[in-house]
Amino acid sequence: MSSKPVPSPDAETAPFWDAAAEGVLKIQKCAGCNEHVFYPRLVCPHCMSDELDWVCVSGCARIHALTIVHRSTAPFRDDLPFAVAIVELEEGPRMMTRVLTDTPETLRIDDPVKVHFAPQGDGPPLPFFEPA
Ligand SMILES: [Zn+2]
Repeated sequence: MSSKPVPSPDAETAPFWDAAAEGVLKIQKCAGCNEHVFYPRLVCPHCMSDELDWVCVSGCARIHALTIVHRSTAPFRDDLPFAVAIVELEEGPRMMTRVLTDTPETLRIDDPVKVHFAPQGDGPPLPFFEPA
C-alpha cells in the first residue's frame, strides 16, 4: 500500500508548514507594497521588495476554479470522488487545495469556503478547505 505524500519544508516554506502544524494559516505580506503573497517567495512578485513578513490570514476564501476527481492512483483511491480547487483567499492570493465535502458535485465556482486543517497520512495537518 502506498502512502499519501507529505510536505518537505525548506527554509523558504518552513514558516508556512510550522503554522499549519498549529492549525494556523499564514502567508507572506510585503512591507514594501502591502500586498499578500502566496506561494512563499524570497522576493515580492508585485514590487520586488525582499521585505516579506509572515502574517495570519482569515482562512476565508471563494472557489475560483474547481474539478471533481473520479479516478486516481492508489494513495487517493479511497477518497474518490473528491474536489480539487483553486481558492481565492479574501486577502487576494490563490491557493490550490482540496475542498472537503461528502457532496463534491454540489460545489460551484464562487462558493464561499473556509480553511480546515486535517492530517494526511502520517504527516502534519495540511490546509484543506470546506464549504463555509
Ligand atoms: Zn511588494
